[in-house]
Amino acid sequence: MKVRTRIAPSPTGHMHVGTARTAFFNYLFAKQNHGEFLLRIEDTDIERSKKEYEPDILNGLKWLGLNWEGELVRQSEKVSIHTNYLKKLLESKKAFYCFHTTEELEEEQKNQALEKISFKHECEHKNISSEEATNKLKTNNAIIRLKTPYKKIIFKDLVKGEVEFDTSLLGDISLAKNLDTPLYNFAVVVDDHESEITHIIRGEDHLSNTPKQILIIEALGFNQPEYAHLPLILATDRSKLSKRHGAVSVNDFTKLGYLPEAMLNFLALIGWHPKDEKEIFNIEELIKEFDLTRVQKAGGIFDIEKLNSINNQYIKNMVPAEIAKFIAPYLDMYNPTEAQLIKVAHLFRERLNIFSEVKELAGFIFALPIYEASLLSWKESSKEKTKEKLEVVLNVLESIPEDSFDIDSTTTELMPKANELGRGEVLWPLRVALSGMAKSPSPFEILDVLGKKESINRIKKALGKLNEA
Ligand SMILES: [Zn+2]
Repeated sequence: MKVRTRIAPSPTGHMHVGTARTAFFNYLFAKQNHGEFLLRIEDTDIERSKKEYEPDILNGLKWLGLNWEGELVRQSEKVSIHTNYLKKLLESKKAFYCFHTTEELEEEQKNQALEKISFKHECEHKNISSEEATNKLKTNNAIIRLKTPYKKIIFKDLVKGEVEFDTSLLGDISLAKNLDTPLYNFAVVVDDHESEITHIIRGEDHLSNTPKQILIIEALGFNQPEYAHLPLILATDRSKLSKRHGAVSVNDFTKLGYLPEAMLNFLALIGWHPKDEKEIFNIEELIKEFDLTRVQKAGGIFDIEKLNSINNQYIKNMVPAEIAKFIAPYLDMYNPTEAQLIKVAHLFRERLNIFSEVKELAGFIFALPIYEASLLSWKESSKEKTKEKLEVVLNVLESIPEDSFDIDSTTTELMPKANELGRGEVLWPLRVALSGMAKSPSPFEILDVLGKKESINRIKKALGKLNEA
């Protein structure tokens, strides 16, 4: 039997990284078993689902490279199939109409809460004859419930091991609001059956749905799939990862300039440990190495520092011309040339954790920040001495022909002067004149990126500042 897995997100918001990880584990498991990974949009919750979030899910999965097989399935387009199965269950008397009103059910829930038992509705309406039920339906609202058989359900979860449930705690579970409005657990079971899903890999928050779904599967006579419930993703403070921890949607991470390969690499390591201490895996390696049975039971930590470090390792391995393409959008306002972008990429690739950081790191190359004249002086050095040194530097740099003005020629010409007059005394004011900042790459690297004309301009500007000060 061909392995088939699925991701079934609801379009109720931007795709959360937790959904991305679940999708990825489903993808990995399908690929390593030469199976198929499918996508279903669970949009039956009309109040919460919003059409605009569907493209967000599709774009997120595409960005990560988690391509699904075949057409995507929208749950809302499958309602006629749900209706047929509901009718079948009603005809075979495995399901029935419950005529209890919302008020009656709320009252029951309140009383059970007082007795400190979790809510279940055991409905005597399951004994109403079908003729009487048909009659009552003409004038009454009713929801469709399963006649829950009381027993123990035991299944082997691929992550959690043997899991046991007592179905008497569930009461007669609700299946649909009416023949055309299936409820969550029923719709999921039917859709998974129709798509021939063999393995359901999903977040632990779904564990309580599993016994209900197994009962529905049994009532419908479907094959029971295998289950794997993944540990939740926690923030570093071990609370549930949410917006207050910063970026949590795939969309956020795309905008910040993460690489999809690095993101996947990071997601794979949340709740799963490879056999050795290796940290960087490409997708082929993950398909080979990933092991669902080695997924931990405890919550997985979402550590942004780790993500940044992984992303940085991927950036470091890229050639500057490639990095240039990724940083270009963040430097758009400066209209940089391709040659400038490549030089910037070269200069910052060791330091960049994410591409968006380039704006802050390299902005000074395109627009000299405003700075105080006092910043130009090395330690206790006087204004006059600083001016003197900068004038020496200016003379040396002006003597280098424009077409050979690069990191080598400027280093060769300036270093003897710096050694003679004091490195700090010479190189500090030069670096500040070029960058306008107390911290920046070395002056030789900046000279190389700026070129002769702009470098000379900036040094003259610094001299002007010192004259005014
Ligand atoms: Zn009832």
